[in-house]
Amino acid sequence: MRTELQALARRVRHEDPQGWQAVEALVAELPEIARRGDARGDLDADLWDRVPAGVFNRINMPPAYGGAALTATALRRAMVFEHVGRVCPAVPIGLPGPGLSTPPVDALGTPAQKQAYFDAFIASPGPRWGAFAITEPQGGSDATAMRTVARRSPDGDYVLDGQKCFISSGARADAVVVFATLDPAKGRFGVRAFWVDKGTPGFHVDRCEDMLGLRASQLAALSFTGCRVPAERMLGHTGARGPLIDAFAGAQSAWDYMRPALAAGINGACLGLLEHAGDLLAQGEAGTDPRRLAAIRAGLDEFGARVEAARLLALRAAWRFDRGERISPDASMAKAHSSTLAMALALRLAAWFPERAARRGERIERFCRDAKGFDILEGTGDMQRLMLARAAEARTAH
Ligand SMILES: Cc1cc2nc3c(=O)[nH]c(=O)nc-3n(C[C@H](O)[C@H](O)[C@H](O)COP(=O)(O)OP(=O)(O)OC[C@H]3O[C@@H](n4cnc5c(N)ncnc54)[C@H](O)[C@@H]3O)c2cc1C
Repeated sequence: MRTELQALARRVRHEDPQGWQAVEALVAELPEIARRGDARGDLDADLWDRVPAGVFNRINMPPAYGGAALTATALRRAMVFEHVGRVCPAVPIGLPGPGLSTPPVDALGTPAQKQAYFDAFIASPGPRWGAFAITEPQGGSDATAMRTVARRSPDGDYVLDGQKCFISSGARADAVVVFATLDPAKGRFGVRAFWVDKGTPGFHVDRCEDMLGLRASQLAALSFTGCRVPAERMLGHTGARGPLIDAFAGAQSAWDYMRPALAAGINGACLGLLEHAGDLLAQGEAGTDPRRLAAIRAGLDEFGARVEAARLLALRAAWRFDRGERISPDASMAKAHSSTLAMALALRLAAWFPERAARRGERIERFCRDAKGFDILEGTGDMQRLMLARAAEARTAH
């Protein structure tokens, strides 16, 4: 596997040298960007003077619409996220580009909508962010119970009313894909997705959360009050009969698309933290008691093996995604396993290096806070396990 991944990295470097250089430029700056991003809850405003924003605007975008070759497949995305996550897993979540809004636009949009949506990222001279807004204040795990409504006005436009919360890069987003229901009684079948631009009357950024971890991802609370969206901005607009595609499936496609890469980023973080712990051990930070040192070494070995297992899960999910297979259970398994592992590793590191865990802004201290964020975003660990249990039940029932 290692040789194949190295070959893939060489191929990507060859096909997209500009993209690869931009990622390396980011990685070189990442330890400092991550520290400041955590302290301030934002990315450096002058980061884009040093790192080419244009490359990041094209990351996670379909290649057919000009997306970077660097992230053209799920395996490539996993490779890049693991590489960057090794230095810092938090900052990538707040980077520019369409991000999580890519899959619903790609899955639901008409060719003209996709062209217009992605062209805006390519044409942007500076960083441009896209956001994906489904979670609501009364609970995000059951997304089908959403209360944000879209009413059809007599002139054919849609009017959105409701609130969204915990939206990654929601305050800086230039375009947001917002999920709303035409009829709450219809559950998932009432759901539609709308492309709403920053500055649209009735669309407000209420606040950014002062987060525990993953602080640079800048989660925002958004509200929509009589927010008028032209009919052509409903994704999959097909005239009077409405969209032919199930919009909730567009949200699910986002999770399948992103979870393998997210899991890979978390695995990268675990690998980076294990290396960091090895360095601290070598520098004598864990003291000199031979029994304590032996226990820490054994613990590091055990976690090393668990991370390798998590990497296999993430790469299998990515590989199956690229083969066009249905990967929801694989993606859930990979994401749940990686984030549970990250939380367990964070607690062990805090026990082994308590001073590092107690000092605000230290890498281990930050990891303890970030790890919980990983468990929650894109569906909590509880929900992933619930889904896996249901899938297992369904298999045994047949
Ligand atoms: C860093 C970060 C980035 C995020 N980015 C985005 C984004 O870009 N867009 C977006 O729309 N959302 C985003 N979210 C929101 C995220 O998807 C939700 O927080 C998540 O789905 C959980 O929803 P909730 O917080 O409302 O918790 P709830 O759904 O209220 O759940 C609360 C607790 O109850 C548990 N629980 C709920 N239902 C069940 C059940 N049936 N069985 C067992 N346990 C259950 C959950 O596991 C959780 O521990 C982000 C969150 C974070 C932390």
